[in-house]
Amino acid sequence: VIDINHLNKKFGDHEVLKDVNFQVNKGEVVTLIGSSGSGKSTLLRCINLLETPTAGEIIYNGENILNDGHQIEKYRTHLGMVFQQFNLFNNLDVLNNCIVGQMKVLKRSKEEAEQNAMKYLELVGMSAYKNAKPKHLSGGQKQRVAIARALAMDPDVMLFDEPTSALDPEMVGEVLKVMRHLADQGNTMLIVTHEMEFAKEVSDRIVFMDKGVIVEEGPPEQLLVNPKHDRTKEFLKRTL
Ligand code: ATP
Ligand code: MG
Repeated sequence: VIDINHLNKKFGDHEVLKDVNFQVNKGEVVTLIGSSGSGKSTLLRCINLLETPTAGEIIYNGENILNDGHQIEKYRTHLGMVFQQFNLFNNLDVLNNCIVGQMKVLKRSKEEAEQNAMKYLELVGMSAYKNAKPKHLSGGQKQRVAIARALAMDPDVMLFDEPTSALDPEMVGEVLKVMRHLADQGNTMLIVTHEMEFAKEVSDRIVFMDKGVIVEEGPPEQLLVNPKHDRTKEFLKRTL
């Protein structure tokens, strides 16, 4: 679905992504791991163009979306993004959080948007809270709503940037359970996480990044059990 070639990102003189090459294929669950500051969030933010890459290509449906004249807004609607912080609209209730984007961006009717929103709120176990305001929800519940909201846009790829790291420990499980379900359903997902057990279970492929470079990638049983590079081994020793 997404093909990244020779991606570079600099903040001033600081090169945060260095010649990054990788793909996310349809139906695949790819997990991005690496130390703090290695560039994982920056890579995700480049993919959805919250940051502008300094050089390189992002090929989506055979086109480089970084080319002049490409419709960035349209491209973005194909990506669902879930952040560490929930980013819900606090003034809107749960249902309205899940329909505004559908109506404004996808020009869906209110009825259609509501129907679709309820489908995904049910999927994440939050349909009973459709009239609740975000401030009355727990962190885990807010994050499940954020996932439903992203899914309601019917994206091609779901991007997750540490969706559980701002949660109290007892709420991590409910969010991972939803994500596991999405993975089982065959959704295309790119996930940044420190939850190694989870990564091991759901990933088709794990990508290890260090200092802006993809050091190695492979299926979980290979990358986590038999890493090739010393840097990967050291990282795993510290985290497992
Ligand atoms: P973490 O696990 O802590 O979330 P990360 O792998 O997501 O780390 P990034 O947030 O991508 O790392 O940051 C990579 C590097 O880029 C860091 O050194 C960070 O300070 C720098 N950086 C990120 N965003 C900016 C910015 N807007 N301006 C300047 N430097 C930035
Ligand atoms: Mg990050």
